[in-house]
Amino acid sequence: MDKSLRRPVIAGNWKMNNTPEQTKALINAMKPLVADADCDVVLCVPFIDLYAAMEAAAGSNIKIGAENCHWAEKGAFTGEVSADMLKAAGVPYVIIGHSERRQYFGETDVTVRNRVRAALNAGLKVILCVGEVLAERKLGITEQIVCAQTEIALAGVSEEELKNVIIAYEPVWAIGTGETATPEQANEVCAVIRALIARLYNKDAADRFVVQYGGSMNDGNAAELLAQYDVDGGLIGGASLVAEKFAKIVEAASK
Ligand code: PEP
Repeated sequence: MDKSLRRPVIAGNWKMNNTPEQTKALINAMKPLVADADCDVVLCVPFIDLYAAMEAAAGSNIKIGAENCHWAEKGAFTGEVSADMLKAAGVPYVIIGHSERRQYFGETDVTVRNRVRAALNAGLKVILCVGEVLAERKLGITEQIVCAQTEIALAGVSEEELKNVIIAYEPVWAIGTGETATPEQANEVCAVIRALIARLYNKDAADRFVVQYGGSMNDGNAAELLAQYDVDGGLIGGASLVAEKFAKIVEAASK
């Protein structure tokens, strides 16, 4: 297997932070800092900030994503945004199944699968989040949890469609806590996901499949995490809100 078959993806998840004006300012600050990146750079922002983000990122190497989308094409779903709406707005990426949505908004493996389906149907690129909670890690069932989440989310996804999917392995206990998985822990689970992709599809698809690590990745620990064989990038929350920190992570992924 050859790690160079995979181009790293560094994605920021801005969560519920920043107004449109703040979004533009932060992207304008980041643009020169990541201009020489030898990896894909994505920033996922709240719906209300998408146009401002795309305007600020236009002509640069920064791609913009949403943080969620609904599974239905349209209809009576007050407050929701469909995958087709994102596509029509020119948004290329969407995060699906983030643990904060699973924890606070009743997201289940089945709704995650439905959202993945809708996003792929619309032609979006999906950053699919999977990961265990602390109690599951302590019980020694991390692998089962992550494999079940992945297998359900990818049910019905063809090998061709899989090219538009990235998986972010995000141990829930490491998100926003400052507690990072060790590089070995991160690599171990990313490798399990890759092996599952090989079983569900084939070795070639698995060799080319991007698996990110997410969970308190920052400018200090990124290099070691990203050097791991099965870690192909990062999904970054807190550190993606600071231009210089995010740029250092991008730089680490570009080596
Ligand atoms: C995330 O929100 O996906 C995340 C990894 O957050 P943080 O980097 O702040 O832990």
